[in-house]
Amino acid sequence: MDIESIFLPGIAPARPVIIAGPCSAETEKQVLTTAREVAAQGIKIFRSGIWKPRTKPGGFEGIGTIGLNWLKRVKQETGMYVTTEVANKEHVSEALEAGIDILWLGARTSVNPFAVQDIADALRGVDVPVLVKNPINPDLELWIGAIERLYAAGIRRLGAIHRGFSSYDRKTFRNPPMWYIPIELRRRIPNLPMFCDPSHIAGKQDRIALLSQQAMDLQFDGLVIETHSHPEEAWSDSAQQITPEMLEHMLNRLVIRSADHLSQRLLELRYRMDQIDEGLLDLLARRMQISDELGEYKKTHDMPVLQTSRYSEVIERRTELGETLDLDPEFVRKIMKSIHEESIRRQMTVMDQELQGWR
Ligand code: PEP
Ligand code: MN
Repeated sequence: MDIESIFLPGIAPARPVIIAGPCSAETEKQVLTTAREVAAQGIKIFRSGIWKPRTKPGGFEGIGTIGLNWLKRVKQETGMYVTTEVANKEHVSEALEAGIDILWLGARTSVNPFAVQDIADALRGVDVPVLVKNPINPDLELWIGAIERLYAAGIRRLGAIHRGFSSYDRKTFRNPPMWYIPIELRRRIPNLPMFCDPSHIAGKQDRIALLSQQAMDLQFDGLVIETHSHPEEAWSDSAQQITPEMLEHMLNRLVIRSADHLSQRLLELRYRMDQIDEGLLDLLARRMQISDELGEYKKTHDMPVLQTSRYSEVIERRTELGETLDLDPEFVRKIMKSIHEESIRRQMTVMDQELQGWR
């Protein structure tokens, strides 16, 4: 994809590009107070939700159109660029008319191809940067699909925002990061600017700093951080918003490591790792050859492919062995399960050969 830079005039493309501001615009005073405080820290892009997708009806669903005037004031008074979420074509036309500089698609929109297509159609012929949050479910293709719909409508200044993925297990994160998904997105569309939204991943104030650091170490280009002058009074996402002061403290402590210089030591470690990977693949191929032979044996002796007790025993014994080697049992279980699945698939192919011939 021929993505163009999302970085507007006056914004240095140096990592991290920060987008800060409240989850929602609530009052003119709250928006302007927060905006002045973040602008004083050198933040160049101000976020604020105007239309809020809420899980249940009856909650605060955003201040609506009037909030656009407040964002206009933010622009005039602070010189910051402003960004807001659009979820349908009416939002798009109102936001563009109000001079919103960057639009973003929320997680509940990017999950829906109809909604994304409507927005893409409304944006045809418009040159505005658009950031696409990941869909709420961990589906990389859907995320890429949303980006492609906008691209096909002629939008070239595109970016992605990783905000974690919905899960029933909310003990550690509100939306677990599943880093391998944004990492794979980067591999698939290498020139796409990527932002991380640690606020929606964490769901509470603590961990935002840690997640931001992890995002930087994974070479994300920027961060979107929900910031409110009085988080405890926020009308939405109160627990996860931080004050402009906390934001400053956190940003000052971020360590930005560059990927530019590959030291000799790093190259050596990578070389050793590559050697081991090659050895692992060779071992796996040999193990699968044994699976094929086992399949043949079972077939000639009229035995079923799967013997559950043998499966449980393999998993148990390997997990125990793994533990003595300081390997995480969950990790070993996952790998053994996947190897066993492939082994069974191959044995079934051996069994099926006759059936295929017969058909
Ligand atoms: C938000 O940014 O406030 C928001 C609603 O986020 P998400 O779409 O990621 O849930
Ligand atoms: Mn929010």
